[in-house]
Amino acid sequence: MSVEAIEEKLRSLESESGRLDLDAGRRREITDQVISYAERFLSALPTMPTYNHVLKPGSGIEEHRIGDEPESLAVLLKLFADHVDAPGLNPASGGHMGFIPGGGLYPSALGDYLAAVTNRFSGLFRAGPGAVRLENLLVDWMKELLGYPESAAGTLTSGGSVANLAAIVTARDPLSSKDYHRAVVYTSSQAHESVFRALRVAGMSEATVRHVAVDRQCKMEPGDLDRQIERDRADDLLPWLLVASAGTTNTGVIDPLESLAQIAARHKLWFHIDAAYGGFFMLVEESRRALRGIADADSIVLDPHKGLFLPYGCGCVIVRQGQKLYDAHHGTADYLKDFETGAAGRSPSDYSMELSRHFRSVRMWLPLKLLGLAPFRAALEEKLYLARWFWERIVEVDGFECLGYPELSVATYRYVPASGSPNDFNRRLMDAVQKDGSIFLSSTIIDGEVYLRMCALSFRTHLDHVRQALDLVVTLARKLEQA
Ligand SMILES: *Cc1c(COP(=O)(O)O)cnc(C)c1O
Repeated sequence: MSVEAIEEKLRSLESESGRLDLDAGRRREITDQVISYAERFLSALPTMPTYNHVLKPGSGIEEHRIGDEPESLAVLLKLFADHVDAPGLNPASGGHMGFIPGGGLYPSALGDYLAAVTNRFSGLFRAGPGAVRLENLLVDWMKELLGYPESAAGTLTSGGSVANLAAIVTARDPLSSKDYHRAVVYTSSQAHESVFRALRVAGMSEATVRHVAVDRQCKMEPGDLDRQIERDRADDLLPWLLVASAGTTNTGVIDPLESLAQIAARHKLWFHIDAAYGGFFMLVEESRRALRGIADADSIVLDPHKGLFLPYGCGCVIVRQGQKLYDAHHGTADYLKDFETGAAGRSPSDYSMELSRHFRSVRMWLPLKLLGLAPFRAALEEKLYLARWFWERIVEVDGFECLGYPELSVATYRYVPASGSPNDFNRRLMDAVQKDGSIFLSSTIIDGEVYLRMCALSFRTHLDHVRQALDLVVTLARKLEQA
């Protein structure tokens, strides 16, 4: 092909490909449309159902196949409204009190917008020194909040599950694969399922997993842990990893971290704390007492998209001896030589599996700086009191019984019917709450018994929502009892 022909070809391609780079007028136009969509969504939010049970949910999406022809934004936003925002769970709603609620702070959306438009490379210091410093500033703040030493290092991840994986891989790194079959992991029946998944993904399927006994509040029993470790040692096994929860997903209780840390230290186990749910309660003075010992772990996981109310897509792992996180994750590549950082800054890509990555610090930094910490503290303390209010109220209602007083922001309760199986009744009650949809609650199983949970963690959940939840559960229980 002649150079002239190539240029001719390029001119024609450029006129087509140039459409990817929108001009200012078009940018303005679509930005305005998206912002008015978001504003309509946010103003309708208080009256939208929290859970919308529909047949064939979201199926309209597949009718619009990906193809060459452009479609108008108005059509796409309508599609989004009808088939994405309508069906299923609405996690942005203050009525979401099931599972562990997420958040969706508005300034985070703007942070994501800035991050995406500027698209700074946040993996390597030389490429994005400011972007890397922004992330390290946040990690350092979390280290200080939890009481970790200067030598700790961490990184922002996509969520808590991936952060648990990073911690477990770091704990595994010094083990020889010849010892995997002798390795023993200690945790409880209350550990989050991602811990077990992470063990498998980390190649530790051969390891033995021991469930340490839990007390009536579902907290790990240190005495039982100690005995199991001793027995395993005597059997020539290799006690390796202890995983505690600082805020269990089921009932929101905190394992006895201080005692567990002492046992782990005595037996030289890696001590990991999964604080994806409860870690940010360190911002609340009175919860700091309940979380004593949180600084004694070898690694810890936090979930800013839970406890800091960020939109989904932001977890964090911190390792006490930061060098170990680096050793387990850093890489080298010939084409990256220009970007090796030395001491100038810790590059997130040296501390995680990600190289090119979401510039996710902006979504966390912007709301924290724009609003200051005080409203975050107040919102978390409010969640503690909401769970207490719900517990105090429901425990007084005839027929209801509760598990222990909430330690964080989960209240666990069930209805005991005059006759018939309590489990069947509570399953039907849960189903009726979810079909109603005005608020969303979820259930769990403890020692074979079905319990209902109320977890307050959304920044939008206030007393009115919790009152509504109480009224709904009580009304539906009465209805079912009479049916
Ligand atoms: C939510 C949660 C996880 C998993 O975190 P994701 O961000 O959903 O991946 C792990 N552990 C606990 C205790 C959790 O509550």
